[in-house]
Amino acid sequence: MSASAKKKSFRPETRLVHSGTLRSSFGETSEAMFLTQGYVYDSAAQAEARFKGEDPGYQYSRFANPTVDMFERRMAAFEGAEAARATATGMAAVTVSLVGQLKAGDHVVASKAMFGSCRYVVEDYLPRFGVASTLVDGCDLKAWKNAVRPNTKTFFLESPTNPALEVIDIAEVAKIAHAAGATLVVDNVFATPLFQSPLALGADCVVYSATKHIDGQGRCLGGVVLGSQKFIMEKIHVLIRQTGPSMSPFNAWVLLKGLETLAVRVRQQTDSAAVVAVALAEHPKISRLIYPGRPDHPQAAVVQKQMRGGSTLVAFEIKGGKKAAFRFQDALKLIRISNNLGDAKSLITHPATTTHQRLTPAQRAELGISDGLVRLSVGLEHADDIVEDVMAALDAV
Ligand SMILES: *Cc1c(COP(=O)(O)O)cnc(C)c1O
Repeated sequence: MSASAKKKSFRPETRLVHSGTLRSSFGETSEAMFLTQGYVYDSAAQAEARFKGEDPGYQYSRFANPTVDMFERRMAAFEGAEAARATATGMAAVTVSLVGQLKAGDHVVASKAMFGSCRYVVEDYLPRFGVASTLVDGCDLKAWKNAVRPNTKTFFLESPTNPALEVIDIAEVAKIAHAAGATLVVDNVFATPLFQSPLALGADCVVYSATKHIDGQGRCLGGVVLGSQKFIMEKIHVLIRQTGPSMSPFNAWVLLKGLETLAVRVRQQTDSAAVVAVALAEHPKISRLIYPGRPDHPQAAVVQKQMRGGSTLVAFEIKGGKKAAFRFQDALKLIRISNNLGDAKSLITHPATTTHQRLTPAQRAELGISDGLVRLSVGLEHADDIVEDVMAALDAV
């Protein structure tokens, strides 16, 4: 097989279409889907050499498959990372990024505002295996510093955060992590590699739920972990190889094709989200509007410094609490109620009763998740249709 488009200087949009393509001897235009568990060898000696790592080639799809390989290479090229490993889901990516680096006796510092399951891994699972954790307000740099212990090995954060779209200063947190001899892992799902480059800002590892904007059309689950060649080979590859949270070649193929259109989709969805934010800004039934990219965003200066675009998500608080938020959601005619995001279809979520239901009211209050807060994931419909649907549903509240 031959690889194509390796030139480093291509722009991200071009890399999304061409990078990582491995063309078989048939010369296919579109990437092939290699639905195979294993591989055959020309001779017993070749099998031996392959297992010794002396013969390049594939052995078993739990840890390497040509279609998954293409997805990993394209993601690495897009992110500007040396290496990537794909996983079955975003949560598998988050889990291996932490477990791969930690052992009993270690300590993790993480930002409180996290995707629900990420918080579960840090707060509930890691301690079972002797890994202590401290949760901090991610926007408070002093809190990160104060949480450091002699055994702190890793910092973990998500920015912009789910669902309140707080933006954490990645470069500053990376400095604090490195001064403590710890690594920094960033969950970059909301920004996508198009709008934010955590590795360039000093992070050691970036993780994605490919389920979101990378697929972008609501079909497959997937995840990806990116970092230096050394980090990926030592901390991530071996863990995936030996424990098996691997991506299926079918999903890798869908996600690979998803990457080709990511820049077009995410830009369009971000432009539409900005239009929705403008329409909501002065609305009398809204008590709070959060959109990264607006000058009234609480961390506007950090957004300016580290992001190249806003967000496909808008969060807003409807006056009247849960009752008003439910009435609003039920009155929507185009936008569907779902806990997902990054889809071509616009989706609305009420975090307090769904994704963040597990937290106590006090914990939700700390994260700015009030009973009136809704999170809108803006899709690919015409922006005016989205705005009209939102406005009509607000009228019904
Ligand atoms: C969805 C999501 C995850 C988990 O990804 P799955 O593919 O659903 O396992 C992790 N982090 C963030 C920020 C997410 O939005």
